[in-house]
Amino acid sequence: MVTFLNASDVAKVVRRVGPRRFWERMVEALREDFVRWERFDKSPRFASHSPGGVIELMPVSDGEIFAFKFVNGHPGNTQLCLQTVVAFGALADVATGYPIFMSDMTLATAFRTAATSVLAARHLARPDSRTMALIGLGAQSEFQAYAFREILGIDRLRVFDVDEEAADKFESNMASLGVEIRRCPDARTAALGADIVTTITADKKRATILDADMIAPGAHINAVGGDCPGKTELSRDLLLRAQICVEYAPQTRIEGEIQQLPADHPVAELHEVLAGREAGRKSRESITVFDSVGFALEDFSALRFLRDLARETGIGAALELTAAPANPKDLFSLLHPFEAAPQRVESRETVEISE
Ligand code: NAD
Repeated sequence: MVTFLNASDVAKVVRRVGPRRFWERMVEALREDFVRWERFDKSPRFASHSPGGVIELMPVSDGEIFAFKFVNGHPGNTQLCLQTVVAFGALADVATGYPIFMSDMTLATAFRTAATSVLAARHLARPDSRTMALIGLGAQSEFQAYAFREILGIDRLRVFDVDEEAADKFESNMASLGVEIRRCPDARTAALGADIVTTITADKKRATILDADMIAPGAHINAVGGDCPGKTELSRDLLLRAQICVEYAPQTRIEGEIQQLPADHPVAELHEVLAGREAGRKSRESITVFDSVGFALEDFSALRFLRDLARETGIGAALELTAAPANPKDLFSLLHPFEAAPQRVESRETVEISE
């Protein structure tokens, strides 16, 4: 049997653990997996592009557990009253190949993305950072605000979205978070004087949400929305001025902001920064960029963390996901009830005729 969590179960787990503890443990689960980087069998994700978006498969294994996530990215979906990003994922036991855990990952993607942003910002942003600009106030935005508040103490937000209704929704969802929220008329005003700038917009094009002249020395940029070939948020000039950190360079060079730069442009990988092999922030004046695209290892961490929480809390359902014949060599035995089915139909007809 596979333990299965749907989105309501994931929300129940978060409530049971408590949001602050959940964020702390999520960030710690990610850190633990990033620092054992060499143990993972890594590859850039498989991406199937179409005019409206992308469908991606994200596999990774540490030799004991294999994980994969299915995720899409369709920026036009909200016009159809559908989400831009939906996801689900599973864990399997490498020794037997059997699936052991499965979960909705629409919520988990938002959680793990924000937790990875915070993990990176802990090493890349100035430690005295208090103000964050948040540009793009869609489905992911509250998770970013929440994680930065709970883990890094960011209590002043300067926010902007081209859609006023998205900004209304964000303000209403964040009303009880205890952060000061200032709505700005454009991205430039939001970024002005911010210690951290998070870009998390959705548009399938080479957008310039941030340009070099919008960013003060010493700022950290958490660039999350540019995550596909031809889909970026930062200008090339800004990238050329910055010290850049990525999750997994072979994937980010295809999908991230750095697709705009030569293939040998120097970048640090997050695991190197966490292990102290690469500097996070080189000086107080440096502009740092975390060029986030989302890597399979983060989904591995999120899935194993949710599996542990499902065990701890008893939340979730047992799902008969794959066939389980009593005799493993007799898969055909599972068809026996179907073979019997026509006889049952015949007998019902017989009854009807006799009536
Ligand atoms: P969403 O569609 O719910 O929200 C996106 C918001 O961006 C919308 O409110 C839209 O109005 C706004 N926007 C678009 N263009 C803008 C602009 N020029 N200026 C300001 N606001 C603008 O999408 P979402 O689920 O919140 O995802 C946001 C982005 O994050 C997507 O591009 C998605 O692919 C990406 N994402 C990245 C990761 C990662 O790991 N890096 C994970 C999840 C999602």
